[in-house]
Amino acid sequence: MTQSEILYKNAKTLLNKGTGLLSGYTHSLNPYGGCVFGCSYCYVREMPVALFHEGEWGSWIDVKQNAAELLRKELRRAKAKGKVTIFMSSSTDPYQPIEYKEQITRSLLEAMVEDPPDFLLVQTRSPLVRRDIDLLLKLGERVRVSMTIETDREDIRKHFTPGAPPIAARLETLRLLAEAGVAAQATIAPVLPSTEQFAELLRPLVHRVCVDDYFMGDGSGGRRTRKLGIRSLYEELGLEDWYSPAANQIIYDRLLQVFSAEQVYVGQRGFEP
Ligand code: SF4
Repeated sequence: MTQSEILYKNAKTLLNKGTGLLSGYTHSLNPYGGCVFGCSYCYVREMPVALFHEGEWGSWIDVKQNAAELLRKELRRAKAKGKVTIFMSSSTDPYQPIEYKEQITRSLLEAMVEDPPDFLLVQTRSPLVRRDIDLLLKLGERVRVSMTIETDREDIRKHFTPGAPPIAARLETLRLLAEAGVAAQATIAPVLPSTEQFAELLRPLVHRVCVDDYFMGDGSGGRRTRKLGIRSLYEELGLEDWYSPAANQIIYDRLLQVFSAEQVYVGQRGFEP
């Protein structure tokens, strides 16, 4: 981790109402504020949670030290009102490096094992999720891990997301999750330039793949991404053809050569419970 500012805070609330792209969920849940992976295309930096926080996106983390205690209370209340489906996380990675030490996400899973929600989606790009396989197994069919793997090219990963974990470690984590029997999907989102072998590489690891791009997936039809100037990152590599909804179609077609249509989800549907 590069020099990051870490603040320990008591959150006032933890479960937020699922809205917009997350309207398929009753709640979203962020164990931390901020995310040191600092992906270039991360549109969270354009959202109030980042805009009203001091410091550049990727340079700070708020640790919600009372998260588990709060979740126990809020989960009980929410479950008394009806079905509870949780997306973890929408504006942070629940398994960013600080989680090795702080174990906030792990404490939330422990709370959910005691009092399970109807469904939990764990959205991450970090191999650290493998540490919690024991708890994920206890949640059984109520949980799915969604592992972001936008490309199989490590040079592309480094260009767009230099602070994020290597691709090989994510693929290996999918293998371990499958071996343990934890439901998981590979999430190619946003679609980045990849090789023709990408789909074949995923085939032995997952039964479910989700494809999403900036134009569907940034919650603003691509406007937020345009504002971040992401196109120039493609131009630097001479790969601007990939900055287009057509790239999504190419990946989708390649996936269909090795997966069945029922296994490949496009856009928001791929994230739904
Ligand atoms: S891991 Fe997710 S939340 Fe973190 S910077 Fe990257 S896109 Fe944003």
